[in-house]
Amino acid sequence: MSFSSSVEEIKGVGPKTAEALKKYNFETIKDLAYYFPRDYEDYQKATKIKDLEPGKVIIKGKIYNLMVNYVRRRHFNIESGIIYDETGEIRVVWYNQPYRIKAFKPDTEYYFSGNFDFKYNHYQLTSPAVNLATEVEETKNGFQPIYSTKGSYKSIWFKKLFEEMRTEIAKAPDMLPYVKPGTRAEALYNIHFPDTYADVEKAKSYLAYEELFELILAAKLNKNENSKLKAEPLKFVAENTKEFVDSLPFKLTNGQRLATWDILKDLEKPEPMNRLLQGDVGSGKTVVSSVAIYQAYKAGMQSALLAPTAILATQHAKTLKKLLEPFGVKVELLIGATKKKDALKKRIIEGDVDVVVGTHAIITDDTKFKNLGFAIIDEQHRFGVMQRQKLLMKTGDKAPHFLAMTATPIPRSLQLTIFGDLSVSTISELPKGRTPIKTKIINELSMSETLYPEMEARMKDGEQIYWICKLIEETGRSEAANVKKEADKLKIRFPEKRIEYLHGRMKPDEKDAIMNRFKDGEIDILVSTTVVEVGVDVPNATTIVIMDAESFGLAQLHQLRGRVGRGEKASQCFLVVQDDKEPTTRLKELEKSTDGFHLAEVDLKLRGPGEIYGQLQHGAMNLKIATLSDTKTIAKAQKAAEEFAKHPENMLKYEELNAAIKKYQQLTTLN
Ligand code: ADP
Ligand code: MG
Repeated sequence: MSFSSSVEEIKGVGPKTAEALKKYNFETIKDLAYYFPRDYEDYQKATKIKDLEPGKVIIKGKIYNLMVNYVRRRHFNIESGIIYDETGEIRVVWYNQPYRIKAFKPDTEYYFSGNFDFKYNHYQLTSPAVNLATEVEETKNGFQPIYSTKGSYKSIWFKKLFEEMRTEIAKAPDMLPYVKPGTRAEALYNIHFPDTYADVEKAKSYLAYEELFELILAAKLNKNENSKLKAEPLKFVAENTKEFVDSLPFKLTNGQRLATWDILKDLEKPEPMNRLLQGDVGSGKTVVSSVAIYQAYKAGMQSALLAPTAILATQHAKTLKKLLEPFGVKVELLIGATKKKDALKKRIIEGDVDVVVGTHAIITDDTKFKNLGFAIIDEQHRFGVMQRQKLLMKTGDKAPHFLAMTATPIPRSLQLTIFGDLSVSTISELPKGRTPIKTKIINELSMSETLYPEMEARMKDGEQIYWICKLIEETGRSEAANVKKEADKLKIRFPEKRIEYLHGRMKPDEKDAIMNRFKDGEIDILVSTTVVEVGVDVPNATTIVIMDAESFGLAQLHQLRGRVGRGEKASQCFLVVQDDKEPTTRLKELEKSTDGFHLAEVDLKLRGPGEIYGQLQHGAMNLKIATLSDTKTIAKAQKAAEEFAKHPENMLKYEELNAAIKKYQQLTTLN
């Protein structure tokens, strides 16, 4: 057995388990070695019950008086019991974990680790992790890794598995250049079998470096490869652009003009543009893309615009038709619900359509273009890498020019490390005449005094309202039932008003119909899930109410809020919170600022970059250990990767590294 052996060679792993592990991408011992513990627990530090203090604790004890209570009002179960040791006893509770109760054996010792706090008028231990004392003590030291559960495989199962791999992990081969031999084996050993936190910290420092080195090297190699690609130059003709821009219903903002200029210049080049257009919600990115589309059209090439939802695609198709059709440009919508798709696809391949706007339907295998010269992805963080790659399918050695648009800015650190070859244009102002959105945090209990009268007044002036509800998963209620219930409540409150609802499970044409009626002013209050989150543009909607605001992320709240404030009328956003707890920092920041770039920075500080940007750009990729705020390690890895990439023959010598970065190479490019 060795580091690269199949998991089947591990003692106790039969074909069936191997098959199950494969589902989690554990095929070799190496794969498992890179499954890092999510935390550690120092069982030697177990506290006697009489000495407990509030906070995170570990208790060794037995349990009795097990009970399950159903709380009807809140639709959940509470499992409770009493834990005791020789010094005293305390209450323990779990929520909705009935299996807990069944698993306990009487008169048996367990380790319970969790939070010990004063709640509901008494001290209790809440939702602790539980381990059989004999199993914990079997292992030599009491400092134990905790692994996240995968399917039916719990932490304790992984621990036993790792015991069987101790020797192989200790002998992990070296992988990186310019690193002291044996460092990797030591780090991997220490991350799984540490004696102290110091061991873990040291291991993490190497593993973070390894991760960043791979990522940065992959980005550098991509850059080298991309520079070899060719694209059709789409000539800039000043009169054409001027004529089109003059026809727009408004004057472009300065930011829009600069961004447009960057793009039009790039399109002229014989290598594919790879540009990100970032601009806050409402900054007017769509119209910028239309100017570029017009240039592609004049150069005789087709364009495609991919949007994350059918609602948004429909809206974009409408906008682009209005702007471009007077110039003879043929714009068509292609979404799942499009009728006579085959006929449309035939026209696309024959070149009888100039611009295709759509959802995933435009990247299915049977949608082919005659000559796709320009591809745009709107709200690009919503798409996975594979989807982006499909849109950019190359023909021969030619690739289309590529523009990604997003309202979620990428911080500089990420731009420099991972997207070294990405050009960025930023629109940093909103069109003139917009009144800033007023944001207020309000309590659910005070809605009738503050919120409802305000809604009444807005609707009296003919303005419209979004009412966003959170999908509450724990209650088991379906999305549809939830929005419907909210809509019914509002109908009682505002019997004269036209109230409709919208949710993700509705058929696309039902969604469109509702959205169109809202746009046309035929609906006063639109109750919706977050399906309206991105891009939707209804300038007459001036109020947005976000229920259970604390359960949304900052970026998401900012996007939702961006649904209003799109016209000249003053707009407002109400963040409704459930109880009278102090509002979270997130909500307070949102109340203070409407600047998406500032909020992105705040979000970065609050959650850390992994959380946000792990998903943002790389879909499947998530940094496991490294953080993008670790500028020191980034600089070190940058330097080493640069040196290494100078000598392509190196790649042949470092076989394992080569394979590892292939994976990243796919993920770190926009095309
Ligand atoms: P986003 O950047 O969020 O995608 P949109 O492209 O949807 O923004 O534009 C938001 C709204 O602003 C649209 O109604 C659009 O017509 C309008 N708009 C865009 N540019 C300007 C401008 N320069 N002046 C006035 N309104 C504009
Ligand atoms: Mg948009």
